Amino acid sequence: LFITIEGGEGAGKTTLIHALAHKAQTLGHEVMITREPGGIPIAEAIRAVILNKENTAMDARTEALLYAAARRQHLAEKVIPALQKDAVVICDRFVDSSLAYQGHARGLGIEAVWEINRFATEGCMPDLTLYLDLDPEIGLQRIEQNGEREVNRLDLESLAFHRKVREGYKLVEARFADRFVTIDASESPERIVEEAWKHLAGKLV
Ligand code: C5P
Ligand code: MG
Repeated sequence: LFITIEGGEGAGKTTLIHALAHKAQTLGHEVMITREPGGIPIAEAIRAVILNKENTAMDARTEALLYAAARRQHLAEKVIPALQKDAVVICDRFVDSSLAYQGHARGLGIEAVWEINRFATEGCMPDLTLYLDLDPEIGLQRIEQNGEREVNRLDLESLAFHRKVREGYKLVEARFADRFVTIDASESPERIVEEAWKHLAGKLV
């Protein structure tokens, strides 16, 4: 079972992923947690190039292609083999991040970014996507408060950019309604886990 977790900055993806993994493991499922861009050395190297604060010259299409390349390698090397062994794979970000960030917020167009991602994924898509929806103003505040994370190139984007990302996810929801679930991330962590688990449990056999 392939589950992806989506959301803007500070929405609480990491916390949710760990809670869901724990619940599924308790039921006896083999669970693999991973993230994008990254998860394996080649893709982590691509992530470092994308997020490097020095790389201010990076073109939006280059960025979209690098994300797609990292995604491809991560799928081929890690995700698909785990799915073949019947693991529950929970991935922090996937295609929908590219559609919302590069497709909509950077203005490349959701369909254009979907095209390169169709090539990259060869149809390997999540069974379920849980999107943590949050006002970016609150998300950015949360990040500032827990300050443990190092600031990367994309964190320096404006509030307006993050609002566009949120708008992008709404468009993605309409485009991929069959697998996409929106969860209100302004709720308490307990409520969020409960809501997310309801959807995940419905997919577990
Ligand atoms: O989710 P995480 O914090 O690891 O994402 C790393 C950074 O990459 C974030 O700043 C996020 O905004 C950015 N990102 C992006 N486009 C994507 C995926 C992530 O701009 N497709
Ligand atoms: Mg995180």
